[in-house]
Amino acid sequence: MTEKPAFPLADSLDPENWAEMRHLAHRMVEDALDRIEGLRDGPVWQPMSEEMRAGFSGTVPLTPTPLESVYADVTDKLYPHAMGNIHPRFWAWYMGSGCLTGALADFLAAIDGSNLGGGDTGANLVDCQVTDWLRQMMRFPETASGTLVSGGSMANIIGLTAARNSAADVDLHHESVADLGAPLRFYASDQVHNCHMKAMNLLGLGGKALRRVGTDAAFRMDIHALRGAIAEDRARGVTPACIIATAGTTNTGAIDPLPAIADLCRDEGIWLHVDGCIGALFSIAPKNRHLVAGIERADSLALDLHKGLHAPFDVGCALIRDRQLHRATFAEQAEYLQVATRGIAATEFLHDYSLETTRGFRALKVWMMMRHHGIETFGHILDRTIAQARHLTRRVEAEPELELLAPTSINIACFRHDPGGMNEADLRIHNTNIMLHLQESGVAVISDTTIRGRHCLRVAICNHRTRNEDLDLLVQEVLRIGKELRNN
Ligand SMILES: *Cc1c(COP(=O)(O)O)cnc(C)c1O
Repeated sequence: MTEKPAFPLADSLDPENWAEMRHLAHRMVEDALDRIEGLRDGPVWQPMSEEMRAGFSGTVPLTPTPLESVYADVTDKLYPHAMGNIHPRFWAWYMGSGCLTGALADFLAAIDGSNLGGGDTGANLVDCQVTDWLRQMMRFPETASGTLVSGGSMANIIGLTAARNSAADVDLHHESVADLGAPLRFYASDQVHNCHMKAMNLLGLGGKALRRVGTDAAFRMDIHALRGAIAEDRARGVTPACIIATAGTTNTGAIDPLPAIADLCRDEGIWLHVDGCIGALFSIAPKNRHLVAGIERADSLALDLHKGLHAPFDVGCALIRDRQLHRATFAEQAEYLQVATRGIAATEFLHDYSLETTRGFRALKVWMMMRHHGIETFGHILDRTIAQARHLTRRVEAEPELELLAPTSINIACFRHDPGGMNEADLRIHNTNIMLHLQESGVAVISDTTIRGRHCLRVAICNHRTRNEDLDLLVQEVLRIGKELRNN
């Protein structure tokens, strides 16, 4: 870098010309609204040219560029190559499809600029109110606590850390996992999300600490196998620390038998953590809340608001039944972070409930979305996505060349195109090609998975813009592409 700037440097980062900035900012909002309004007419996703890719390399920008031309790159280069999860025909993995109110709120949150690590601010009250609303929605007791985090993976880590410290026979703030009197075991089904493996690693316990339990024909944790594993571990001197029940698995949407697992945890004195990233929000869906009955008995619960609530990325939440234990798990002393009796530091620090110190104002988007739309709207949309998965399932079952590979219990459907005469390996190649054709054509984006050794297409309808006719088009296109590929 040069010693003397080649350019007269600005006094601050504020606009030099407010009128110009005002004009451009308004245009950005107009363009954003146009984009969302016209979503359905464009492709879901499109591949990037090599030339376009090359445009994203180069040297560090030393000198200013007019914002207008930077923004032109956003609209011309970024927008056409977005992930597409905001499009009505995006059903890959399991993602929310965003929301305009949430997007506006993210902008307003950035303008407010508050750091949610702590401080006596309006933002702090919004954060606390949002976690309290989520606590009420999940029917956790008033003594429970919560913290907003980046997403489900982090929410699970928060819950599992509290579980570990609660089960440990030494104080892990002063001792180490090497000082534990007996090794700790966590239990989860063979369908558990891989963020729990990452968590075991991070918690210093290692992969061996997570024992995978088999599942039944509907991919739900086998409670008898779970009981057996716990008894076997106790007999070996291993301490069962926590059962991780999944409410809505990523592969097929299976919901582990929550009431039976909660009973077992109560009888055995084991922490119950529920990974509710997919299913916890069904608690607010009138037609399907029975599917997750028992979730309110968890000691800790992870939920994802950028999935079923469609908050723009990223925001998730960890709820912990025992507030004292939650705080004791994460709070550390620091002379430079002291609570005062008056002034800006006269409140409890929110970072005492989290791994993060500085925390963004992600609460605002959830607060504004919940108030603007009302929880009943979100509940009905969740019910509708489940009805749509059932609609798709009926369509699949009615087509002789399509085969359903798992029971559809929520808003995920797993199936494949099987025109006959192909073995497993051929079917994998054939269905992978169908998926890639669909993605590259821009008609729909779906993903795939392998269930008990059988490859399939996976359609996860976590999308408030999807209509039944979109799913009919999917079926039609899978059959058409499947036939074409077969004949080539
Ligand atoms: C999505 C998901 C996660 C991870 O959540 P992120 O928000 O992507 O970090 C964890 N568990 C389950 C069951 C999920 O579906």
